[in-house]
Amino acid sequence: MSPTTLHTDVAIIGGGPAGLQAALTLGRIHRDAVLFDNGTYRNAGVAHMHNVLTHDGTAPSEFRATARDQLAAYDTISVRDVAVTDVVQADGGFRLVLADDSVLTAEVLILATGVRDELPAVDGLDDLWGDLAAHCPFCHGHEFSGRRIGILGAAAAPHLSALLGPIASELLVLTQGEDLPEAWSGGAMVRDEKVLGLERHDGGIRVRFTEGSDEQVAAIFVSTALRQSAPFAERLGLELNPSGCVRIDELGRSSLPGVYCGGDMAHLPAHPMPMASVIMAAAAGQLAASGAQMQLMSAAH
Ligand SMILES: Cc1cc2nc3c(=O)[nH]c(=O)nc-3n(C[C@H](O)[C@H](O)[C@H](O)COP(=O)(O)OP(=O)(O)OC[C@H]3O[C@@H](n4cnc5c(N)ncnc54)[C@H](O)[C@@H]3O)c2cc1C
Repeated sequence: MSPTTLHTDVAIIGGGPAGLQAALTLGRIHRDAVLFDNGTYRNAGVAHMHNVLTHDGTAPSEFRATARDQLAAYDTISVRDVAVTDVVQADGGFRLVLADDSVLTAEVLILATGVRDELPAVDGLDDLWGDLAAHCPFCHGHEFSGRRIGILGAAAAPHLSALLGPIASELLVLTQGEDLPEAWSGGAMVRDEKVLGLERHDGGIRVRFTEGSDEQVAAIFVSTALRQSAPFAERLGLELNPSGCVRIDELGRSSLPGVYCGGDMAHLPAHPMPMASVIMAAAAGQLAASGAQMQLMSAAH
């Protein structure tokens, strides 16, 4: 039996804040769109998100569920919990192959597939990630107010200590034997020995070293390497920024006509990296949807 082929105006890949907002924006103007979500969100392990106006402290899963409930009011929007396995250009638009072997064609594509964080290889860090270990003081710092906070890695120490200094009672920098950058201005305790492992202890984290005594901190902050969650930017040959995120213009347009991007996976070349937050991702999703709508409207004339 040949696979079913369906057609839509806009295919949105991604059901995080960027893709959900893109779908809402298109639903508001009765534009046909299908959103695909394979359930792998960057903040999957996070119990409470912060710095999100009117949702400070809301669970990300609740945020996404509410967004989906509200999308159900718009008849032109479909949400499908299925992975997209391939995307190619076809007939002036795009052809998406899905994990259930069905095929969807679309005039315009919005990529909102997000990024994944590559953590330094430190035993125990994975288990703490999104809970007692994080990368963003705006998202998680306040929860550890007045307590001792660790910073893992020398390179990020100046930036993270400047942000966390006013929040923590004391900072502990774990350099992993690397030199601190010249920008380092001190003001924190420093341990140079390699970290052997991190483990939950007494409501915080016990840090074990290859030599010397253990340390106790409430939380650990670390800078991560960002990788595209999906292969589609590479598959479609989209131009990238040095960060590895897709290069977009002020309207969310990628280098390939008809492909719009939003959220953590893309940013303007003027920024060194994505302005990665729920609000910024949603705003970028709205911009991408507006760009897609403008293209479809001008094609109709
Ligand atoms: C530990 C941690 C804590 C954070 N805390 C906060 C916070 O408190 N406040 C805040 O504002 N921000 C926070 N962030 C940042 C926030 O999570 C991101 O900025 C935001 O989720 C980006 O949204 P997005 O839509 O771009 O991507 P995501 O939310 O990652 O969504 C990506 C979507 O793409 C889908 N997808 C990917 N590939 C495919 C495929 N092949 N087929 C179908 N679907 C696919 C995924 O299933 C998912 O639906 C945190 C991040 C981390 C890592």
